[in-house]
Amino acid sequence: MMRAGVFHQPNRPISVEDVPVPSLGPRDVLVRIGSCGICGGDIQRMAGLIKVKTPQILGHEPAGVVAEVGSEVDSFRAGNRVVLTAVGCGECYYCKIGLDNICDHIASGFGVGCDGAFAEYCRVPARQLFPLPEGMPLEAGSVLTASTGTVFHAIRKSGVVSGDTAVIFGAGCLGTQALQLLRLQGVRVFVIDIAEEKLELARKLGAAEAFDGKSRDVTAEIRNRTGGRGADVAFEMAGQPRTLGQALDCVRGGGTVVDVGSIMEPVSLKMMPFIDGGLSLSREITLMTISHYCRRDMTKLLDLLSHADLDFVSGTYKVALSEINHGFEVKRQGRHARVLVVPD
Ligand SMILES: [Zn+2]
Ligand SMILES: [Zn+2]
Repeated sequence: MMRAGVFHQPNRPISVEDVPVPSLGPRDVLVRIGSCGICGGDIQRMAGLIKVKTPQILGHEPAGVVAEVGSEVDSFRAGNRVVLTAVGCGECYYCKIGLDNICDHIASGFGVGCDGAFAEYCRVPARQLFPLPEGMPLEAGSVLTASTGTVFHAIRKSGVVSGDTAVIFGAGCLGTQALQLLRLQGVRVFVIDIAEEKLELARKLGAAEAFDGKSRDVTAEIRNRTGGRGADVAFEMAGQPRTLGQALDCVRGGGTVVDVGSIMEPVSLKMMPFIDGGLSLSREITLMTISHYCRRDMTKLLDLLSHADLDFVSGTYKVALSEINHGFEVKRQGRHARVLVVPD
C-alpha cells in the first residue's frame, strides 16, 4: 500500500488515504515521487470546471526516482532520477508528426485521465520519462514539467533571435523563467507587471527595464525604447484580456504575440485597420497560442539546464502530502510562484 491524495468529488477536500501501489505493465515504470507541482488546471478540476473521472489521484507535474521497471523496459533502471512528463501517446496523428504537445489523448495521461503523482508512487509508460541532469534537485525537476517546458516551447515557437527585443507581460512563475531563458539567448527583455516585488525580481534577473503596466502607457513606453517601432515579440503570461491587448499593441509590424497565460474570460479584438486602439490588419501581426511542450523541447531543455545556471526554484512553496489541501489553498491564493507537494 502507499499514501495518496485521492480526489473523490469536486468542491470537497482531497482525501489522503492508503491505496494499492500500482502494478506494472511490460512497458511501464514505477517511480517513487520526490515532489509534484500543483497546476492551475488541478484547481479547476477540484472546482469541477474541468471534469475528470473519480476517484482519481491528481498530479501531473512530478519528478522522482525509478523504483521498478516493467519486463520490456531497458532504458531505465531502479535508482535513476527522472522527470515524468504527461505528453504524448506516441500513436496518434499529432504524436507521429512531432506535435505530441497537442496529442489527441492528452486528456488520458497520468494525473489527468488516470492516477497521477500526488502519491508516494506513480506508474507511467517508460516513454514519458526523461533522465534528470546530474546534480539537479528533484524539486527543480518538477518545476520543469510544471512550467519551464511550456516556457521553453513558447520561446522556440516565437522564433525570437539574438538581438531581438521582447516584452513579457506577467512576472510570475512563467514570466521570470521566460526572462532568464531569453537573456541566455541575447534578447533584450522588458517586463510588465503590476506588483512592485515582482518587478524588482525581474530587474534582478536581468530585465532591461521592468515597469507597472497599470500606471504607465505600455505601448508608448515600448515604442520609445525601440526606435518608435515596437518590440519584435511579446509574451502574454499574465492571463488577462487586457495584457493580451497591450501585447498586440506593443509589437512592431510583422511582430509576434505568443499567448501563454490561461485567459479564462472571453477576449474581444478590434481587427479593423486604422482605428485607434485596434489591432491593425496592416501591421501583419502573428498571434499564436501555446500548449504544453513537445518531447524535443524537454530533451533540449534538459541539455541546456545541465550546464546553464538558472534559478527556477525561488518562490516555491512546499507542503507535505498529508497537508495537500493546505497546498491547494496556497495555490488558489496565488502569492507563490508555485506549490510543490512532497510525499511525507
Ligand atoms: Zn498542468
Ligand atoms: Zn498522441
